[in-house]
Amino acid sequence: MTPQEHPPVRVLYFAGSGRSGTTVVSNILGQLPGAFAAGELRYLWQRGVEQDHLCGCGQPFSACPVWTAVMARLRADAGSERDEPAIGRRLLGRLRMARLPGALLRDALGRRALPAHPDDIAVTDLYRAIADQTGADLVIDGSKLPPYGLLLRQQPGIDLYVLHLVRDPRATAFSWLRSKPTRDTAVGAQMQRQETWKSSVLWTVWNLTALRLWRDGDQRVCRVRYEDLIADPVGQLGRVAAMVGADPADLPFLAPDRVQLAPTHSVAGNPNRHDTGEITLRADDQWRTAMSRRDRAVVTLLTAPGLRRFRYPLDTRTPPRPRTVRRVVSRSATSAGRAR
Ligand SMILES: [Zn+2]
Repeated sequence: MTPQEHPPVRVLYFAGSGRSGTTVVSNILGQLPGAFAAGELRYLWQRGVEQDHLCGCGQPFSACPVWTAVMARLRADAGSERDEPAIGRRLLGRLRMARLPGALLRDALGRRALPAHPDDIAVTDLYRAIADQTGADLVIDGSKLPPYGLLLRQQPGIDLYVLHLVRDPRATAFSWLRSKPTRDTAVGAQMQRQETWKSSVLWTVWNLTALRLWRDGDQRVCRVRYEDLIADPVGQLGRVAAMVGADPADLPFLAPDRVQLAPTHSVAGNPNRHDTGEITLRADDQWRTAMSRRDRAVVTLLTAPGLRRFRYPLDTRTPPRPRTVRRVVSRSATSAGRAR
């Protein structure tokens, strides 16, 4: 088949900001028949191809049979002259957040948000190779970076669904302050940390951008608060499964708050992508007792527009009230019915 004859690859893309629980959600949804939890694919070229970090299965990227087959397929399709690491470096450069305002403006004016680039075909080829080599009919991508989501949205070879997972920014900011081993390499690298003001600004920008790109009412978009998901994992993840055409009964629940996870081949993400076996889902709300009043105040101030929109209290002494998930979608994209 020529590339034009391939049906688009179905992708479930996670939008939102870092430390919002997307990794465990990806691992759970990745247990669905026909789903492949790929981790944060925007990092594949850097952390996989170049740095050979550990795959979710525990093998180095270069030794993982799944990724070895996917990369061999890419080379066979594209020819040996394609420099995959260079594509990854150019991609991360093209998708810098500084370019987001211009992209959103062009999008608002009805123009193509990101200029077409010769590397775009390599991005689509990657998802096609994953689907072909794994037999998956749904690739789950936890990338979250708004410009990367925009890029995927523009690719005709990708059939995009979106899960926008939002978590209380006081919880995410607290998580960004903590030191934690990445478990990505044999030697103990630590996860990136971020100052409170910076993680707060990013929370606001990334979540409000996701709201702008993937609108309420779109049948291909689910917007879920992490706190609501933890209060009712079966119900909330069941809605996400139904959105992508899967049977919610196939989700790996052993009990309403417990799942059975087989290893995934996630290429990058939080360290809990390596967790397997029986996992109990519970709220990580240590921030409520351990976060300083000053940090809470900074976060609350810098995330105020989003707090209102996502119905989080300004006063954090009041726990957020669980609510039913809202199905949301956006304006139709260039192809009708496509998640924007
Ligand atoms: Zn693997």
